[in-house]
Amino acid sequence: MFHFCGIKLNKTKNMQRITVAKGDGIGPEIMDATLEIILAAGAQLEIDEIEVGEKVYLSGNTSGIANESWDIIRRNKIFLKAPITTPQGGGYKSLNVTTRKFLGLYSNVRPCSSLHPFVSTKHPTMDIVIVRENEEDLYAGIEHQQTDEVVQCLKLISRPGCEKIIRYAFEYAKVYGRKKVTCFTKDNIMKQTDGLFHKIFDEIAVEYPEIENEHWIIDIGAAKLADTPEVFDVIVTLNLYGDVLSDVAAQIAGSVGLAGSANIGETCAMFEAIHGSAPRRAGQNVANPSGLLQGAIQMLIHIGQTEVAENVQNAWLKTIEDGIHTYDIYKEGVSKQKVSTSDFAKAVIANLGSKPNILKSVTYAKGITLNLPKYKRKPAAKKELVGVDLFVHWSGTSADLLAEKVRVIGEDKVQLSMITNRGIKVWPEGFEETFCTDHWRCRFKPVGTHTIQKEDINKLLSKAVWVGVDIVKTENLYEFDGKAGYSLGQGQ
Ligand code: NAD
Repeated sequence: MFHFCGIKLNKTKNMQRITVAKGDGIGPEIMDATLEIILAAGAQLEIDEIEVGEKVYLSGNTSGIANESWDIIRRNKIFLKAPITTPQGGGYKSLNVTTRKFLGLYSNVRPCSSLHPFVSTKHPTMDIVIVRENEEDLYAGIEHQQTDEVVQCLKLISRPGCEKIIRYAFEYAKVYGRKKVTCFTKDNIMKQTDGLFHKIFDEIAVEYPEIENEHWIIDIGAAKLADTPEVFDVIVTLNLYGDVLSDVAAQIAGSVGLAGSANIGETCAMFEAIHGSAPRRAGQNVANPSGLLQGAIQMLIHIGQTEVAENVQNAWLKTIEDGIHTYDIYKEGVSKQKVSTSDFAKAVIANLGSKPNILKSVTYAKGITLNLPKYKRKPAAKKELVGVDLFVHWSGTSADLLAEKVRVIGEDKVQLSMITNRGIKVWPEGFEETFCTDHWRCRFKPVGTHTIQKEDINKLLSKAVWVGVDIVKTENLYEFDGKAGYSLGQGQ
């Protein structure tokens, strides 16, 4: 027998050792309530508690977590984390993003279903799961200021990243009996990055003929999700879109305070609520622990303690159905009792072993496993250098004038073929109405039957130094198996 938070734990051979961080703000209160419920339901857990978040940040550690804590997280592999506060001001790295990427937690799974008629929602039959890519996209955090006027953020999308998350979404749909997987991208504009995600979605969808699949452009898809979420089932999408849409989905289902999230990797996994640390509500014993409890239920399923997960979920549904609500979902006429965090936990514990009468009770199959083969690298394509984009910092306004300055760095074999500004073609034959910044992309391509080599690019760069053209970045243009691996200029 040992103790955690004053709770007596019985040690059995099915014990799973997990790492727990109580976080900041309302974190400690909702974590205590969550642990109390799952341990009362018989979860077999050994708990190592670590400190992360605000205190660690403010002690001078810009990542918000000590090295020893990483050792514990990596050893235990399962991490239940309450929300943390990232202090205001520059220099503090988001611990959530760092944890997801360090541990390879590529899949973020956020179920959002309504609890009608017990929690107010305009979407009584909504029941969706958002599977969000968790490591790539603009969240690679690779940003640079390139000129006085222009900063950039690199959007990185990889084939392994797409394959892993899309397969995860289809496997999830398969084992949880879901009927459809919808892909959201903006590939009408971002043909390389979002285009790759969509292409791989189509490739993998073929392997799951029993599951319906469809693709929506993200803008109209998001509008449809906010308006008619019941037409969706599982949604798979890129990191940024998924981040935004999963908060929207949770909120329209009832409240962000009700949704949990699983971050799954090949060896480690982290479970949390989707909301933040709500500092204004901290220390008042009023916060809703449901979001973190939902994360903990996902954790119990993940570690194979499905009976406990089922018992807790049904008791939680029954409590919601009984009208025992924290302030955030309390509604006169619908709710019966406005309760504190700790009293909500007590009510759920009292309902263990019961099932809801009106809300649909859950049954989780034993030993749920997703078939997720390791990524296999494809044979390399035939890669051919076909040009180069030189990005120039220049504060003039006439693209014709810039063309004259830049042309001289070219030679017989490799010549200036186009200039764009913020992606739109401004030379040759630009529009004088086009607004230009001080950041210009000058595309050089080989002439006629010539080919271009890396040495030609070196020559262009050296000449640019001699004639005073300020090149801030280069991007090589390649064809892969004869297919262009770069975008055209807009209007080209
Ligand atoms: P938030 O989600 O913490 O709170 C927004 C509002 O939602 C709160 O004022 C509160 O009214 C309500 N709310 C949220 N959770 C609730 C709950 N469980 N019960 C009842 N009401 C709840 O968002 P924020 O105020 O923008 O962020 C506060 C801090 O949280 C910031 O420092 C932010 O960086 C951090 N944050 C952390 C995580 C995480 O650790 N995963 C996620 C998001 C934000």
